[in-house]
Amino acid sequence: MKSFVEYSSDSDFSIHNIPFGVTVFNKEYIGCCTRIGDQIVDLATLHDLGYFEDIKGLEDNVFEAYTLNEFIELGKPITNAARTRIQELLLEGSILSKDEKTIADAFYDLDKVKMMMPVHIANYTDFYSSIEHATNVGKMFRDPDNALLPNWKHLPVGYHGRASSIVVSGTDINRPKGQTKPADADQPLFGPSKQLDFELEMAFILNRNSEMGESISTKDAEEAIFGMVIFNDWSARDIQAWEYVPLGPFLGKNFGSSISPWVVTMEALEPFRTASPKQEPAVLDYLQFEGDKNYDINLEVYLQPENGEENLISESNYKFMYWNMTQQLAHHTINGCNVEVGDLYASGTISGSDPKSFGSMLELTWRGQNPLQLKDGKERKFIEDNDTVTMKAWSEKDGVRVGFGEVSGKIIPTT
Ligand code: MN
Repeated sequence: MKSFVEYSSDSDFSIHNIPFGVTVFNKEYIGCCTRIGDQIVDLATLHDLGYFEDIKGLEDNVFEAYTLNEFIELGKPITNAARTRIQELLLEGSILSKDEKTIADAFYDLDKVKMMMPVHIANYTDFYSSIEHATNVGKMFRDPDNALLPNWKHLPVGYHGRASSIVVSGTDINRPKGQTKPADADQPLFGPSKQLDFELEMAFILNRNSEMGESISTKDAEEAIFGMVIFNDWSARDIQAWEYVPLGPFLGKNFGSSISPWVVTMEALEPFRTASPKQEPAVLDYLQFEGDKNYDINLEVYLQPENGEENLISESNYKFMYWNMTQQLAHHTINGCNVEVGDLYASGTISGSDPKSFGSMLELTWRGQNPLQLKDGKERKFIEDNDTVTMKAWSEKDGVRVGFGEVSGKIIPTT
């Protein structure tokens, strides 16, 4: 496949991708869009001009919206047809390639747009599905010999997070204040977190509602997953360590999470399916699944001090996940919990077995014991004020590249 839009061979936004997002065009109006190379394409205008006319179910211009929810809710038969149509229109020799007026009206350079939150996130759940991450944390905080708790290999552990504070890449994050209790203190202290961390995660977005009492099986789960984004689950380790017993994460997590602006569809990720790590002991029936349910997605984390150079601090891969998305959704709904369009389910921190692939400062520095050395000669135990953390994600195979771009966020001092 070759597009009439030119882009470099290392672009995440190849003709094979066709992700969906929401943007402000020319500081004038907001609408749904896709991206090819460094061109942002206004889908509402293409719809107005009749380019989706014959797609049954796509008669209303759902791209004329502030979020992708209405589009996503149409379901895969329609959203896939739309994506395939966009791909065809972007090919060399297409009707659109000869329509100079529409290209002038509907195609924007990157500097003419500002990406927004792509989805109104109804509910957010965070899992804990990387065995290497769970093992590392268990070793540090509990017992090195029994790092995994007894439930870990039997169910995808998770907690309900906060949807209201999920923000799009580029949004500054305030360093949270809160209660902490250092080991040598008798009483808790109050103040800005001194152990601010990131968590390298991926997340999936749901395209359907379900009724209370209904469950979504591992077999039906894929039909309900529209696509994925990169997810940074910012975490204040000192607040978390003091508050989390017995009910789990709360203010150490809910002050902010960042997502990448482009939702990459599961169809674009299809060529990158891969096998899961073997699950031993065998899981209960409702968590069993058939086929390859993991995805080979390269992940990188960069830390950049104010006015400084970028430092690559972690290289990981989504394929390391022990529990897959179909199991996470099946488990989430097995008790009859209802789900909603726009729900976001995050993977949990993704760590590999190599220490260079750990997905948090907590693990990379082993709770601050081994600080990271930066290019400017300084070191980091955790994230400092005015540091920017950027995560990148992409898949590549046989010359086909499909990527997410990045999620970036800067920590600003608390006031
Ligand atoms: Mn997390």
